[in-house]
Amino acid sequence: MEHRGILFVMTGASGVGKDTIRQAAVPDLGNVFYSISATTRARRPSERHGREYFFHDRAAFEAMIRADALLEHAEYVGDFYGTPTAAVDAALEAGRDVLLETELVGARQVKEKRPEAVMVFIAPPSLWELERRLRGRGTDDEIKIQKRLARAREEIRAVREFDFVVVNDELEDAVRTFQAVIRAERARACRLDDAQVAAFLRER
Ligand code: ADP
Ligand code: 5GP
Repeated sequence: MEHRGILFVMTGASGVGKDTIRQAAVPDLGNVFYSISATTRARRPSERHGREYFFHDRAAFEAMIRADALLEHAEYVGDFYGTPTAAVDAALEAGRDVLLETELVGARQVKEKRPEAVMVFIAPPSLWELERRLRGRGTDDEIKIQKRLARAREEIRAVREFDFVVVNDELEDAVRTFQAVIRAERARACRLDDAQVAAFLRER
């Protein structure tokens, strides 16, 4: 029987370094499916439809909600973001581990629907440093930066709801810690099936 994959949820303020960590961490981990979210946010010049996000207008996003096609969705600083369910479930069924990225409201919805999900919070070393990174990225105007920082403050206060925290201070340390979380979850003895235990017992 094929094993179901493990569902990982990555949450952390905009600008904390989630994309950077994921891009550095995933190639060494093998067999991880990154779920591409849907959003109504305007596409940044560096982004491509179907790579960073599926970019939709409000009507198309609302149609996905009505069709119950999203595992979770939330409003964030004036736009909607959500996780298409079908691709996530297809990957899990195929035995692939799945990594989702959501803000806090969506993360709570996933935990409610899929209590087995492994919840990982990416924290900045400080809000001061987060603000520096958000400004350095140069993708948001002043009003959006202030709204994103306010949201970050709320999310950080909820950090203890999560199973793991990865502090993104030195990038290499954060990548190693994130990889360690995924490897440790994969190594849980409770995930073994009878055939795997039987294989350990082979005497020749
Ligand atoms: P997110 O996906 O969480 O919104 P990004 O991955 O886009 O964040 O990172 C935001 C900015 O911070 C980028 O300019 C990125 O290069 C930078 N960054 C990410 N990790 C670090 C780090 N450990 N130290 C310094 N800058 C970082
Ligand atoms: P950004 O606009 O910086 O790409 O993302 C803004 C926020 O939306 C970030 O906190 C990011 O984690 C979150 N986000 C990205 N994809 C999803 C999603 O599918 N669902 C939810 N709920 N939040 C998401």
